[in-house]
Amino acid sequence: MTPLSAAPPLVIDERHIDRRLYPHGIAFMDGQYLRMSEAKISVLDWGFLHSDATYDTVHVWNGRFFRLDLHLDRFWSGIERLRMKLPYDREEVASILSQCVALSGLKAAYVDMICTRGSSPTFSRDPRQADNRFIAFAIPFGSVANEEQLERGLHVAISDTVRIPPKSVDPATKNFHWLDLVKGLFEAYDKKAETALILDTNGHIAEGPGFNVFFVKEGALRTPAFGVLQGITRRTVFDLCAEIELLVRAADVTCAELKGADEVFITSTAGGIMPVTRIDHTAIGNGRVGPITRQLTDLYWQKHDDPAWSTPVVYP
Ligand code: PLP
Repeated sequence: MTPLSAAPPLVIDERHIDRRLYPHGIAFMDGQYLRMSEAKISVLDWGFLHSDATYDTVHVWNGRFFRLDLHLDRFWSGIERLRMKLPYDREEVASILSQCVALSGLKAAYVDMICTRGSSPTFSRDPRQADNRFIAFAIPFGSVANEEQLERGLHVAISDTVRIPPKSVDPATKNFHWLDLVKGLFEAYDKKAETALILDTNGHIAEGPGFNVFFVKEGALRTPAFGVLQGITRRTVFDLCAEIELLVRAADVTCAELKGADEVFITSTAGGIMPVTRIDHTAIGNGRVGPITRQLTDLYWQKHDDPAWSTPVVYP
């Protein structure tokens, strides 16, 4: 692997990049740093053909990775569960991610690490014969909620769609199985909502496209326990609650409990803690962003400069 100081200078001629297709950013694949428009995988990669892949997304804020160790832990456990192998160790992956950000010059970035099953030269149907592929990239930071939605709270629809059972696709392994989530999104748009929450196999609330959900009732918080990705932002909410002595637990959440809550918010690396003020036709609480949501959001962003929670990117 090329260390940052020895990385070749990357001169990008902006005139040759179609920004409608490719954002600014730098990718790493097959051993090379590339502009986003050059980062292409084979159509024979099982990651593309069968969603046979795991990935993780970490963000960079003010030039610092937020909770990088937790993201690397989750990525590595996904790779092991899917019986994949990487040619890089943990420190090398951390360094590649840092170089993608440094070479892109981004101070606020959305950073992905991906391991796909890859493909075999003989197009074998045996997954053990595939050469697994590692891809990383850093592009500008993006959020589930835009500025207006962060200010007034998101409008969410609860979809009838059921999240794929954990015994079929384990949500704890972060994956690209999104057909259920995308179906939920289209149903939400049909109902004039901005995003969706979908159900677990028991009819309880599970999660949404790229986020977990929490509700606050009488000062205590709850988030679904079953059939969801153990989000790093979700975990961060537990850590922040411990710090400010708020009660929080993971357990089943019904649709009625969510609609009857004092406050609701969603959590994702893509946006942090984001308020929800309407679910279907019901206003949550008084219909405005609640005080506990605001307090946790402020604390969450304060932690981004704290060396105990963040790691600096080394820019050239
Ligand atoms: N649930 C799903 C299905 C996701 O894809 C994501 C993030 O992409 C989350 C929850 C939130 O996880 P995190 O807080 O680690 O970003």
